[in-house]
Amino acid sequence: MPDPEAIYYSGLKLDRASELRKDARWIDAQWNRSSCRVLLLRNDHNLMHWQKERNQAPVSISHNRDDIASLALGSSGVVFLGLDKEVPFFAADVSGHPEAAFKGIIGDNEFIDLRQAGWLLSAQEAALLAYARGLLYWNRHSGFCSTCGSPTEIQHGGHLKLCTNAQCARMTFPRTDPAVIMLVEYWPDTGPPRCLLARNARFPARMMSTLAGFVDPSESLEETVTREVLEESGIQVVNVSYQASQPWPFPSSIMLGFRALALTTDIRIDKLELTEAGWFSAEQLGSFGEWGDGGDNYCLPRKDSIARYLVESWITDVTRRP
Ligand SMILES: [Zn+2]
Repeated sequence: MPDPEAIYYSGLKLDRASELRKDARWIDAQWNRSSCRVLLLRNDHNLMHWQKERNQAPVSISHNRDDIASLALGSSGVVFLGLDKEVPFFAADVSGHPEAAFKGIIGDNEFIDLRQAGWLLSAQEAALLAYARGLLYWNRHSGFCSTCGSPTEIQHGGHLKLCTNAQCARMTFPRTDPAVIMLVEYWPDTGPPRCLLARNARFPARMMSTLAGFVDPSESLEETVTREVLEESGIQVVNVSYQASQPWPFPSSIMLGFRALALTTDIRIDKLELTEAGWFSAEQLGSFGEWGDGGDNYCLPRKDSIARYLVESWITDVTRRP
């Protein structure tokens, strides 16, 4: 089975200093250290260097705080990420800045959607950029109290928002929306085991993946898996078992990966969600292509997704069994 710690966007080796960051003076001291590094983001896109035409892999770009002094970053829109040994890392949102304000600073680097480049970055870079994107997204969308509508202020280095209305003083923490993603398998009496893959209308052409869906209020994860599989494919499942999870800050989810055993095989797809679905053996999956390979065959989910992990670990398991 592939190593679940190798799942993209997880495994970040950064000390989040979750106790120390509650102290505003400590946060200020980190910001004022000469070693302080800052990741810039604009409209949820991370700053990277990527010369595609030269077939180079993208790399993330961070700046020394002094090198971006001209941006005059205030306390809003700047969040503390953590410590890499002794080096503090912050992320700053320049979405509200005119392009002229940062053009000279970023040079020939670009703000790029992590969804387009993440799977080409190193695992640590991908995890750091995903963290910065997710935290800044939440900060940008939590500027006002959801109870009384008053402005909120940043606390804990951007990991808490406090309502400025003293009568309300509601505290809001970064939100993560749970979603389940599941590989459904079927073991016939004769013939090879097969798994259920489907193509969502929003997927790139030819890409087949596992089913997924959001958790409803007052629903266990196992119930969500069972309900979503039935709704989307008409398949009844049992034996829902947890496999692994993946942070998915696109914009604010965590994907909770499961495997489930099918009791039925007749597929009736939800045509609002899916364009096609089918059962595939490990041998058939072996002939699938890669996203972006230009071929005509079906392709596997992208390498940075937990869907890919669920498919590959299933192939490994069924191949090993007698
Ligand atoms: Zn309030």
